[in-house]
Formats: sequence, C-alpha cells, structure tokens
Amino acid sequence: MGRAARSSAPAGRARRTGAWALLARNHLAVAGLGVVTFVCLVALAAPLLPLADPNATAPADRLLRPGEGGHLLGTDALGRDLLSRLVWGARVSIAVGLSATLIAAAVGSLIGLVAGYAGGRVDNWLMRGIDMVMAFPYILLALAIVAVLGPGLLNALYAIAIVNVPFFARNIRGITLGLARREFVDAARLSGKSHPRILLTEVLPNVLPVIVITMSTTVGWMILETAGLSFLGLGAQPPQSDLGSMLGEGRRVLFTHPHVSVVPGLAILVLVMGINLLGDGIRDVLDPRLKSGALSRPVARTAVRRTAVPERQDHPGAVLELQGMETEFHVGGQVYRAVGGVDLHLAPGECVGLVGESGSGKSVTAMSVMGLVPTPPGRIAGGAAWLDGSDLFALSDEEIRQRRGRDVAHVFQDPLGTLHPLHTVGAQLVEAIRAHRPMPRTEAEAAACDLLALVRIPNPAERMQAFPHELSGGMRQRVCIAMGLANDPSVLIADEPTTALDVTVQAQVLALMDRLRRERDSAILFITHDFGVVSAICDRVAVMYAGRIVETGPTDEILAAPAHPYTDRLIACVPVLGAPDRRLEAISGRPPVVNALPPGCAFADRCPRARDECRVGDIALVEQGGGRAVRCLFPMEREVADG
Ligand code: ADP
Ligand code: MG
Repeated sequence: MGRAARSSAPAGRARRTGAWALLARNHLAVAGLGVVTFVCLVALAAPLLPLADPNATAPADRLLRPGEGGHLLGTDALGRDLLSRLVWGARVSIAVGLSATLIAAAVGSLIGLVAGYAGGRVDNWLMRGIDMVMAFPYILLALAIVAVLGPGLLNALYAIAIVNVPFFARNIRGITLGLARREFVDAARLSGKSHPRILLTEVLPNVLPVIVITMSTTVGWMILETAGLSFLGLGAQPPQSDLGSMLGEGRRVLFTHPHVSVVPGLAILVLVMGINLLGDGIRDVLDPRLKSGALSRPVARTAVRRTAVPERQDHPGAVLELQGMETEFHVGGQVYRAVGGVDLHLAPGECVGLVGESGSGKSVTAMSVMGLVPTPPGRIAGGAAWLDGSDLFALSDEEIRQRRGRDVAHVFQDPLGTLHPLHTVGAQLVEAIRAHRPMPRTEAEAAACDLLALVRIPNPAERMQAFPHELSGGMRQRVCIAMGLANDPSVLIADEPTTALDVTVQAQVLALMDRLRRERDSAILFITHDFGVVSAICDRVAVMYAGRIVETGPTDEILAAPAHPYTDRLIACVPVLGAPDRRLEAISGRPPVVNALPPGCAFADRCPRARDECRVGDIALVEQGGGRAVRCLFPMEREVADG
C-alpha cells in the first residue's frame, strides 16, 4: 500500500480528492448529508420564510389537525402553528447541540492533550478528575447539574457539554499518549520548541482527525440529550421552545391529538439519524485504516478466479510448482497486476532465490501460494500451484488452512511483526506445534526446546520463557525460523529474512538455513533483493521484474554471465570486497507501475540495449539450455557470441 501511494504524484492526488468520492460512494452518508443540509438550511432561513409567528397563540384555533385552517402541520394546545414552531425549534435544538459539542470537544480535547503529553502526575490528576465525572450515571449527572444551575436552555447546554467532556478527554489522551513518545516529537523538543508549541504544531494536527470523528459521531447524541432535558422541562423555558419541549407539550394530548407530539418526535428522529449517518460516513473517510479497505471484512483466503487450469509441465521430483500464476489488486477502480504469470518449481532440499527490486512482486508471489494475499483488494487471477501434486488453488479453505504451516511455512522480514508481543516465545512455539500435531503440553514444550536448540539459541530452556522484546533481532529471527520448521514443512518460504539483520548475524542465519535444508530436505524459496545473499545460499535463482520472471538458471552461471540486462544491472549493484575501485552502478529510472505496464518488455525504458522491437508484443521466456531461460529479445550472451 505504501508503495502504491509512493508510486507517483498523480496517484497521491487521486487519493486526496478521493475523500469526497469515498463519501459519495457511501449512500447512507449521502442521504444523511442531504437531510442535515436541508434541515440546517431551513433552520437558518427561518426568519426569511413566510412562517406564522411561532409564539402567537390563538385559542380559537387550538388543536387543529394538519392541513386544517391553513396550518400545514396543524396547531398545538395554544393554537400556535406547529410548522413554524418546528422550524424555529429545530434552529434552537441544532444550535444548542452544536454549541455543546464544540464546548465539550474544546475542553475535553485540551484536557486529553495536556494529560497525554505531560504524563506522570499531571496525567494522573486530570484523569482521576475525569473518572469522577464518569463515575456518575450520565443523564443523572446532567439532571443534577441543571438542578444546581436552575432550569433553562443555557444551563442545559452547559450540563450536556460537561457530561460529554470525558468522552473527548479519554479518547484524545489515548491518542496523544502514543504520539507524545514518538520520534518526531522528540525531534521537535530537541530543536528547542516550547511544550505549548509542540502540542499545537506537532501533536494537535495528528489528533485533529480523531477530534473531528468524535464530534461527528457525538453531535447527534447531544441534540438528543438536549431534547431530553427540554422534554423534562429543564431545558427550553416557555415561550422559547426547542424540539424536546414541543414533544413535552404534546405529551399531554398524546391520545386525543397525537400529531402535536408526533411532528416534533419525527423531526428529532430524522435529524439525529441524518447526523449519525453522516458522522459514520465522515469517520470512514477520515480513518486511513477504514479508507484502505479494512471496512470490508477480510477473508481467510485469497479469492481465486479460475478460468482455465494450465497444462502441468513436467518437473520430475518437484515439491512445489507454480505455473502462470497471476495475482492482481483492485484498488480504486485500478487493477494492479502485481504478479503477471510466474512459473517456478522447487525440488526437495533445493534453495531457489527469488530476486528483484522492491515492488517487483516477490512477496505477493510468495503469499499467493498459500492464499495469504488479503482479499479484498487482492485476487489470484490465473495459473496454478501444485504442492506434492495437489492443486492448491482448488483445495477447500479448510484443507488449505491445515496445510499452512504444516506443509508450507513462511518466515517474514520482520520477526517482531510475526511474534506476539504478549506471549513468551516458548508459548508461541508450543502453539505452532500443537496447531498441527495435537500432543500433551509437556511433550510440545520439549519439542519447542529442541527446535530452539536446532536454530542454535543458547540456553534454550531458559529462552523459552523470554518475551520477543527480550531477544536480539538475530535471535528473534531464529525463533521465527524455528517456528517455520516446527512441523517439518516440505517448503519454507523465507521473505527477506535477513534484510533487517546486520551482516554477521545475516551470515549466521544464512548458514543455519543452509544446514537445515540439507539436514531436513526442505525446499526453500528464498526471497531477497541482494545478489550477495543469493550467492551464499541459493542453488538456482529466478529474477523478477514488474511481476514476471525475466531470467532463471543456476546461481553460479547467472552470476558469471547474466543474460538479461536487468540481472546484469542487479549484480552490478553489489559491492565486491577487495575491489574498491569498481563503480557501483545504480539502475537509473524507476520500475513501472503495475497498473499501467508498457507493451513489450517492462524493462525497456531503463535498458541500455533496448530497441524498438522491445516495445511491442509479449516477450516470451526462452529456454537457453542447461536450465537457463531468459525473457529478452537481445540477451547479453548472444552479443558476446556475435562479437
Ligand atoms: P516486493 O517485490 O518488494 O516484495 P510486493 O510483492 O510486496 O513487492 O509488491 C508488489 C506490488 O504489489 C506493489 O508494487 C504493489 O503495487 C502491489 N501490492 C502489494 N500489496 C498490496 C496491497 N495490499 N494492496 C494493493 N496493492 C498491493
Ligand atoms: Mg517484499
């Protein structure tokens, strides 16, 4: 997602204007917006509208039904025009509800900001005060406040605002607490900014969306509460009226003349519902997590669209075979073809490297195998994957779930993201073992201990009790590898497992994986962007660019004589020890965005050897003999042969 956002400026702009489009797509929110706009416009225009005086009593016209005597909505017990009172009453209700929201938001957010930022004793005092307010039942407290201050609309407003302050204070304090320890706040402090300025310029902008969201979701609630107090006769006092007091007046004639109470009741219902629908819509738009699709329920497995199962090519002895696998993402009307037809096969005990720049589709390839790509937005759009001969994309959800971790295990780049921070590594290993092999806990603990010893963790019995944060990065990654090996998988997919480690630890982890695959005969799909790592561990390598494999073959042959210009460039990026004069050639340009791939070779725009032919038609992966294949019209070797 991050990459997609970074990919180009127009995409970023599209995302920002997308807020309105997003709101527009939410039909309920649009309906809410329509209702709220209409009511607010009418309420604002009340003095200009040809309405009767809302307070003019006419005993002769009392309790007229809607439509009678020229009163569109009828009259109340004092003969006052209900339509006019409704419009003026809505005006009061909205004004009071909004003002109470603003006051509660301002006071509550200030308390929350200061408490969360200052921490320590200040936080304690402020939050205990808030707790005291929250200790009383909500509406009872409002009633008590009005009882002390005396009935009246303004006092009702204060009461509602006060009882809502804790919502904002607690919400904002929580967010601020997380932000106040962040690096950018430290940086601002180091640069000499004063605390109030940091709060105002660094913290507040980050908290603002949350304040707006809380406001939009509470304003309807506050209008309702104001109406409640007025209904009880504690809010608006005659002759002034709001929707709540109209409802209260109508109560007396509820059975004989229901329209007097039904009219303001319906108005409250419609108004509050409109505001709440709009508020929910605003929240969805402002919350980046909801915006990126978290609103839709995630599915346990990547959706698969099966058109035609490709003919299975013969790879004798292969344990995992991918053929023509395509995975795409549907985001905002665009289709990102992250994986555009990948062929790959692994034999037991073999280590195959999948190499390419960041964003070339390596991780998506790896995740697609066991259906781990999130749907939506991801989808497997074609091809097939066979594990020990069984078609993975045709398996049921339950079968694939059982095979995850048992037959195919994953090790990811960031061990902290894999390990649960609240459980000891021992408990997590035990869980990994027992998920697939039900056995008594003590037995599983012994097995977990053996696994830790296997990945060369000193004092394994002691380390079982350690939490992930108590281990170093290298040890954490070893724990993840141990977890991957817990059920003796036939395939281990390692997605940049050493990228976050320093070089000595990286060398140790690589040696460990190399030894393990030889001892246990597991196949390893090793994903990396580093040819140095490839040369250390991989038998064969597949080079990926823009979602397709552009070259594949035995590692040493490819390192010695790359055929694809892209491979050549990638290898040139690796520094060689003892050759300080060698120029490290960065690859100029950027990889193409996968929602608008050029025709022909995707690398053509960055390729020094590109000719016009490279930019038309599909370019096939051509076998070159000796297990090598290249997707290039003018591979490097041929030129050597020519010259
Ligand atoms: P890498 O080769 O660095 O592992 P990835 O396989 O993670 O690259 O990503 C390949 C492409 O897939 C990215 O450029 C991005 O456009 C797309 N992509 C990956 N994950 C998502 C996602 N969750 N939503 C939308 N697009 C995605
Ligand atoms: Mg990746």
